[in-house]
Amino acid sequence: MSATRRPLKSLGQNFLVDGNIINRIIQTADIKTGQAVLEIGPGRGALTTHLAERSGRLLLIEFDHALAAWHRVQYQQKPHVTVIDADVLKVDLEALLPETPQKWNVVANLPYNISTEVLFRLYHVHERLARMTLMLQKEVGDRLVAPPDCSAYGVTTVLLGLWFDISRAFVVHPDSFHPSPKIDSVILNFIPRTEARAEVGDEEVFRAVVKSSFSMRRKTLYNCLKSAEFAKEIDCSELLEACSIEGRRRGETLSLEEFSVLSRWVTEKLRVIHRKANTAEEYCHDT
Ligand code: SAM
Repeated sequence: MSATRRPLKSLGQNFLVDGNIINRIIQTADIKTGQAVLEIGPGRGALTTHLAERSGRLLLIEFDHALAAWHRVQYQQKPHVTVIDADVLKVDLEALLPETPQKWNVVANLPYNISTEVLFRLYHVHERLARMTLMLQKEVGDRLVAPPDCSAYGVTTVLLGLWFDISRAFVVHPDSFHPSPKIDSVILNFIPRTEARAEVGDEEVFRAVVKSSFSMRRKTLYNCLKSAEFAKEIDCSELLEACSIEGRRRGETLSLEEFSVLSRWVTEKLRVIHRKANTAEEYCHDT
């Protein structure tokens, strides 16, 4: 099987065929000689050839076995290129991107159907990354750079915005691909921050606060928060009052700073509740 087999819709195979766009993506990614690069879904290698020339280490994760095998043959004489024939949603990214002084650049034209899931997986390894240059469907890209209080603003905006400075590079028209998708795409740059944009307490709590706040877009913030797991232990009226946030608001109107205030309060409250519970348990155990 060769790299020219018919593209698979199930794997989101819309291959870049526009040399001008390919060059612009490579310029935007700004890979310096010798840097470490991860490409997710190299496909037929439109970006890969350029990345292999510049990088000191190139990791390719491709789920299409035939394409992965094809890349292995292409790069068998290039020991700095490693091909991983796997689903990017199943691999252990922490193990693949070891914590070395040299951080990783991620470049990818992501398959649309899994782009949000991939973003969350990359979010969990943000401290291993130097930069990400990603092609996403425009609608997903718009969400990531949306300000509060607009319909595009959501969970991905807030969670990724905590650890990345995200900016839009340029829009890509469907004609630049084979086969052409029905929608526009966009190239975004993600620069990982050395410090989070806001102090959130426990990050797992932060994620729970944000996810529950957006869980029912038409409901009030108070009703949304009540659906969260932490609401079994925490009174949400007390939470909102302590944080001076009006419970009748919608989750999408909250800024990242307001989410962080809620998250810090919940973190602290849960700490106190669990400390008390542990002390009581120890007491019962001792007596
Ligand atoms: N980078 C190439 C380009 O720009 O022409 C291909 C991009 S195409 C939109 C997405 C690529 O991701 C395809 O090669 C597809 O086989 C691969 N892919 C799809 N799902 C994947 C997964 N779960 N893990 C790894 N690769 C995947």
